[in-house]
Amino acid sequence: GERGSTQSDMLQVRMRLSLQEHLWEFYQNNANIPTQEQAMARKAALDICAELRVFLHAKLPDMPLREMYLSGSLYDDLQVVTADHAQLMVPLILEKNLWSSIPGEDTIMNVPGFWLVRRENLEYFPRNSSYWDRCMVGGYLSPKSVLEVFDKLVAGSINWPAIGSVLDYIIRPVVPSETLTLEIQYEMDRKLYVDFLPLLVMEDGTSLIAKSHRLAAERHENLWRQSFRVADTARLRALDQEDGGCRCTCLKVAKAVSKLNPALNQLNASQLTNAILLLSEKEGDWTQEALADRFLQLLRALVGHLEAGRLPCALNPKVNLFCELTEQEVDELGYTLYCALSDPESLLRT
Ligand code: GDP
Repeated sequence: GERGSTQSDMLQVRMRLSLQEHLWEFYQNNANIPTQEQAMARKAALDICAELRVFLHAKLPDMPLREMYLSGSLYDDLQVVTADHAQLMVPLILEKNLWSSIPGEDTIMNVPGFWLVRRENLEYFPRNSSYWDRCMVGGYLSPKSVLEVFDKLVAGSINWPAIGSVLDYIIRPVVPSETLTLEIQYEMDRKLYVDFLPLLVMEDGTSLIAKSHRLAAERHENLWRQSFRVADTARLRALDQEDGGCRCTCLKVAKAVSKLNPALNQLNASQLTNAILLLSEKEGDWTQEALADRFLQLLRALVGHLEAGRLPCALNPKVNLFCELTEQEVDELGYTLYCALSDPESLLRT
């Protein structure tokens, strides 16, 4: 009857109210990082970056690089839980006439979002006409080989203890490391991890990073990963600015939840950002009061994407942001999020 439905409506409103409060509390206590902590981590990363620039200019003046710079969530105020990592972007300069990029969907691997970078004009400009020919494998620029060049430098020829003592940090390369990572201890109890991320900016502005396909079989080894991070993040921020919205808050809560719940560790910032961007196309109300509703909607959307095995990249729907998950991981994520739909608070218990 009418009365029953009103009562259950009231119950739902009450539940949502308290979820709203708990989400904001979780955001303050777990997701958001104090300004001071962020500033200290940024400073440590900047100090290292400055030292590395000096070192590389002196040691390898011929290496065609643009200036290295720091990037990542620490610089966009999107890092969560602890301020402990950043990427050091290392942009390689490629000769336009010697290298061309081929989208992954036009290769036998057929993976949108990944690219091959092919050496051109070898007959007129033989091997070693380009500095980066030393990283050529089977006619393609190999991201793995580029990383190895930096790995040799960073792990082999840089005197980290000396640099560390000048800066009053303890610095050491992390071994073994998939990426190329420095660990910087800048306070007794504070560590920062900085990944070297070689980067190609192609003529049309496409950014390709030397981060391998996660399920990289040998045939995937030469693939460069297209980066949408800058555009994704700018879009999210612009939308929030237009309407004073809570998309970034929702993202940070979702990132913290994924970081703190082992069963959700496989969800990354790119997937969560794009899920929110897709939701923004359908859903208009992102006021601060709607955080709980949008958060629940995000969980539901993720469950749907997982069921479909597909999360299209908002900027290029051909790219499936779940393509690096195994079927089992997709199932497990889907199950965990599905269960959370009826008890979202369970995600916030830390
Ligand atoms: P968080 O590390 O979860 O806080 O997320 P970020 O938004 O900082 O993303 C960092 C991850 O995105 C790293 O694993 C990078 O390898 C990857 N990534 C892809 N493109 C970029 C890029 O253009 N810049 C940076 N910094 N990271 C990128």
